[in-house]
Amino acid sequence: MNVLADVMEQVVKKNPNETEFLQAVKEVLESIDPVAEKHPEWVKAGIFSRIVEPERQIMFRVSWVDDNGNVQVNRGFRVQFNSAIGPYKGGLRFHPSVNLGIIKFLGFEQIFKNSLTSLPIGGGKGGSDFDPKGKSDGEIMRFCQSFMCELAKHIGADTDVPAGDIGVGGREIGYLYGMYKRLRNEFTGVLTGKGLTYGGSLTRTEATGYGLCYFMEEALNAKGKSFKDATVAISGSGNVAIYAAQKVQQLGGKVVAMSDSNGYIYDPEGIKLATVQQLKEVDRVRISRYVEVHPGATYQDGCADIWSIKCDIALPCATQNELDEKSAQTLIANGCYAVGEGANMPSTPEAVNLFIDKKVIFGPGKAANAGGVATSALEMSQNSMRYSWTFEEVDAKLKDIMVNIYKSASEAAKEYGQEDNLVVGANIAGFIKVANAMYAQGI
Ligand code: GLU
Repeated sequence: MNVLADVMEQVVKKNPNETEFLQAVKEVLESIDPVAEKHPEWVKAGIFSRIVEPERQIMFRVSWVDDNGNVQVNRGFRVQFNSAIGPYKGGLRFHPSVNLGIIKFLGFEQIFKNSLTSLPIGGGKGGSDFDPKGKSDGEIMRFCQSFMCELAKHIGADTDVPAGDIGVGGREIGYLYGMYKRLRNEFTGVLTGKGLTYGGSLTRTEATGYGLCYFMEEALNAKGKSFKDATVAISGSGNVAIYAAQKVQQLGGKVVAMSDSNGYIYDPEGIKLATVQQLKEVDRVRISRYVEVHPGATYQDGCADIWSIKCDIALPCATQNELDEKSAQTLIANGCYAVGEGANMPSTPEAVNLFIDKKVIFGPGKAANAGGVATSALEMSQNSMRYSWTFEEVDAKLKDIMVNIYKSASEAAKEYGQEDNLVVGANIAGFIKVANAMYAQGI
């Protein structure tokens, strides 16, 4: 039975050309169809048609002056998707590919991801088509300040709490926070991912990558496997990829490949993470420079080709739809038995179906990468308490949360007759909590 076909039809009609948003909605609606069958009262209350419509969407102009004195104009976005279980929470992405459809897909995913963390946070996302690449520090600062001048009108520690995403790290959060404070004259937890000297949480930087490994280790263990002695390929070289690589190494695995948007490096001896960190976090240059320091490694143009590297476990940590069906086939043919999504929706629907069909252990992004936002929520708690937990305390909480997410997703999959399908399990477990809250709060 397909109870939700007409909901999908409406979404397609109302949001033409928003490919990524439609992709994300389709996957969730297909997964939760059996829940709709079980809960006719939720169908009657319009939960399914309401959850696919953002509560509020804000689009604004961001003007700023570049280093040559020229005025530049970008577009800013904040989509406040669902606040049933708590204040809107989700990152800001600065990347030239950003448009309303991308932010809506990310905001929609965030609803279920945030629900899975078991913490009281609703779903939102924002960003801009601003391209931070090649910009000076001063340009980044002026852009962030201008962006915050408008965004500040719509956010607040108990309303909507943004954080980082692609193109937004500690530096940008600092500039955004500085401007918010000047506008509001208050010291608050309005943003997460803050610096440690002004309210940031220990472990937040590492959280998405570490959490991904904690989640995958649990999923691997359930099948008698682990990261120990496994060969791992990780796409990306940002915050998520770097700390996923660090945790894989701590767990005894060998990371042999990493990438950036230009190409990938392959180091059969195991990637030296300190070099990647120097290149990406300090020098902010291309990953190709790795081979200058480690001549035993090779560099290839074309980031998607990283999936041709033979590995046991693949961790796509770069961006949406970076791993297609052909790459999935190559990975499986080369013996890859587990895939954990550190990025948001990095595998295409065809690739996901193939992984599920071929019994690859597959950790979908909204469950596997929830450690970042979970630790953001822990930062909010610490800000409210005017208190800081130690690295070990936050890390232990993060680990507990990831183990619980794995448990809820796998139990929900089992309950709905789809054992081992963590895509369906994560969607159902994430949805049920939000649906309950929406139902209780009326129409
Ligand atoms: N951008 C991250 C995500 O996709 C983190 C969001 C946050 O910490 O609010 O979940």
